[in-house]
Amino acid sequence: MEQLPIFLQVRCRNCLVVGGGSVSGRKIDLLLRAGAQITVVAPELCPELKALAEQNRIKHVARIFQDQDVSDKVLVIAATDHNNVNRAVAAAATAQNIPVNVVDTPELCTFIFGSIVDRNPVTIAVSSAGRSPVLARALRARLESDIPAAFGSLASWAGRYRDRVKERIPNFQQRRKFWEWIMQGPIAELIFSGREQAADEMLEESLRKGDTQVEHGEVYLVGAGPGDPDLLTFRALRVLQKADIIFYDRLISREILNFARRDAEKFYVGKQRSNHCVPQSEINELLVNYAKQGQTVVRLKGGDPFIFGRGGEEATALAENGIDFQIIPGITSASGCAAYAGIPLTHRDYAQSCRFVTGHTKNGKLDLDWAKLSSESETLVFYMSLKNLGVICDNLIQHGMATAMPVAVVEQGTTVKQRVVTGTLKTIAGAAKQAGMASPALVIVGKVVALREKLAWFEGENEV
Ligand code: SAH
Repeated sequence: MEQLPIFLQVRCRNCLVVGGGSVSGRKIDLLLRAGAQITVVAPELCPELKALAEQNRIKHVARIFQDQDVSDKVLVIAATDHNNVNRAVAAAATAQNIPVNVVDTPELCTFIFGSIVDRNPVTIAVSSAGRSPVLARALRARLESDIPAAFGSLASWAGRYRDRVKERIPNFQQRRKFWEWIMQGPIAELIFSGREQAADEMLEESLRKGDTQVEHGEVYLVGAGPGDPDLLTFRALRVLQKADIIFYDRLISREILNFARRDAEKFYVGKQRSNHCVPQSEINELLVNYAKQGQTVVRLKGGDPFIFGRGGEEATALAENGIDFQIIPGITSASGCAAYAGIPLTHRDYAQSCRFVTGHTKNGKLDLDWAKLSSESETLVFYMSLKNLGVICDNLIQHGMATAMPVAVVEQGTTVKQRVVTGTLKTIAGAAKQAGMASPALVIVGKVVALREKLAWFEGENEV
């Protein structure tokens, strides 16, 4: 190990920063977060630091550095543009054995800052001993995405129970197992989703029972986004990686399923080629039954589970059966396809609202309130509508929408297979047919569609 990583207590202790520019500002920000008392020595301060001085959050000494400035300090940072000043600061601090950091000059430093992941009170600092700060930052970015933002809340919460648990489970091994169960199980998930009280109750219950492995099934209704695996949320990724069993449907790609644990069971419950799909009531039952067996169940759905995804019905079945569940939102295909097609869903000049509509027929009829849908200052997004595209356009025209209103059909949006066909209410049905557009596809109607001409940025491999 080239250097010793330590975590220094600077709360309410005097620290010195020499230099009043933006570089010193970044260090001051860190010191403030750690609660330090900061004196800044600099002839002048940049506006941000001036504001901090006016709020008395830092003390400003308006002159150039003098050796005695380092006296009584526990930490010194030099961040001026002047090499000789930085050297003088380093020399003065080193003479008194005070840790000193000189920005961008490793040879003058007795300590360096790591790249920090802050999940207060959990802190991770990554260092490459000054060899490659860019690599350290890249590593930090990976950790940032792996560690839930609420990790700090989990640590604080656990801290409150430390003594109680120690008293109740005196055996060290058992206690460690207990805490492992807490950190990887449903209690941690409750904290991550902000339900501290429920976490308190579950912990109390397991402490009372003296049971460290309470069998506790739960179901996550997870939105997988429109297709591009990069559009998965951090939370979706995390629960995918801890699921025992996953029920997924047609719109879920192989890449997304690959994020699951290797040993997780994966069941397809979407439409088969024969067009037969597992009936909704059966899916509801499956979710309930597996959760009752103590399994962590993920129901993975395309887009967002609460937008044309029947997530509402599944959640109702879970609630009625007393099963714990969480809904993890996903990017709905309207947002995903619009973004990747360069079509803003709203725009100050063209669309003041946006409506998501199903184009799916019920009993062979498309029963929509056409008069309401025919506003020209609104964007309409039709899901499940390719089959009825002609009927939709005819109805909008009949109810007063201009025949020249722009329309786009987006097939397999956000994926490398994305294709977009544009036209007008009058021409789009023919154009989509000619291009052989197929499901899954989304239809966007509105003046905003014309903006695609300028804003298209993403191209699928087979773009027409
Ligand atoms: N819950 C999903 C919608 C499920 S309904 C969501 O929030 O997006 C299924 C319909 O979604 C499809 O018929 C299609 O209209 C649309 N859809 C889903 N993914 C799509 C994609 N990648 N490209 C285009 N349309 C998509």
